[in-house]
Amino acid sequence: MPLCTSSSLQPHNLMLNSHLQPLTRALFRSKLTTMSNQSTSSSIKSRIRGVVFDMDGTLTVPVIDFPAMYKAILGKDQYFSIIASSPSGIDILHYIEQMTPDNQQKAYQVIADFEKLGMDQLQIMPGAQDLCSFLNSRNIRRGIITRNVKSAVDFFHERFGMSFSPALSREFRPYKPDPAPLLHICSTWGVEPNEVIMIGDSLKDDVACGKRAGAVTCLLDETGRYDSPKYADVEHKPDYKVSSLAQFHSLLESNFDLTP
Ligand SMILES: [Mg+2]
Repeated sequence: MPLCTSSSLQPHNLMLNSHLQPLTRALFRSKLTTMSNQSTSSSIKSRIRGVVFDMDGTLTVPVIDFPAMYKAILGKDQYFSIIASSPSGIDILHYIEQMTPDNQQKAYQVIADFEKLGMDQLQIMPGAQDLCSFLNSRNIRRGIITRNVKSAVDFFHERFGMSFSPALSREFRPYKPDPAPLLHICSTWGVEPNEVIMIGDSLKDDVACGKRAGAVTCLLDETGRYDSPKYADVEHKPDYKVSSLAQFHSLLESNFDLTP
């Protein structure tokens, strides 16, 4: 499961009209303008040859109560202390790496228990199948970068019935928000980073990874939680923001030259 987001367990919804975040409003507006201008001329659209997805909370419905998991690992006091100084989210793997070996083992077991719960309750995100069928029809490459473990990625592939390749789990080091996994995928595909769009539900991991690699980025924010002013000063801001995969599908179709 994604190990950095600080959101509470969020009810899934199918809201199609996103509320633009303050932090992205100006940029998003300019993109929408561009989208309108470009609709009459495909020659000026940016070319996208591949889409890289986050897995948990993007291709699957979020079910993990991350604050509860973080509190179980860090203790309430440390959790509240960290979250006060890290508004964009906790990089729990980073904190675990600083623990003693014994405590690391306990922490990874807590994560494994939460991730097992996530696998038991796994649901494919609405719109994911349609989106991937559409990408298939255009021969656009699909990859995954997740901070979850490989067994969860394998399980997801079994349940989803469509393959993503490469699909990099947290066994691939360094993991996101480092750009390395995305650059590795671009290299494997033989495409430039700016010919790839990265979509995920984490500003801190997915958008940061994508921006650092030089890719186009899209934040999936189903509930508008990133509208909060606490995200106004984050370093890496998304190029686009959508509230559903259906909206992301529309964005791809209308705004980009999808040529493999
Ligand atoms: Mg995620």
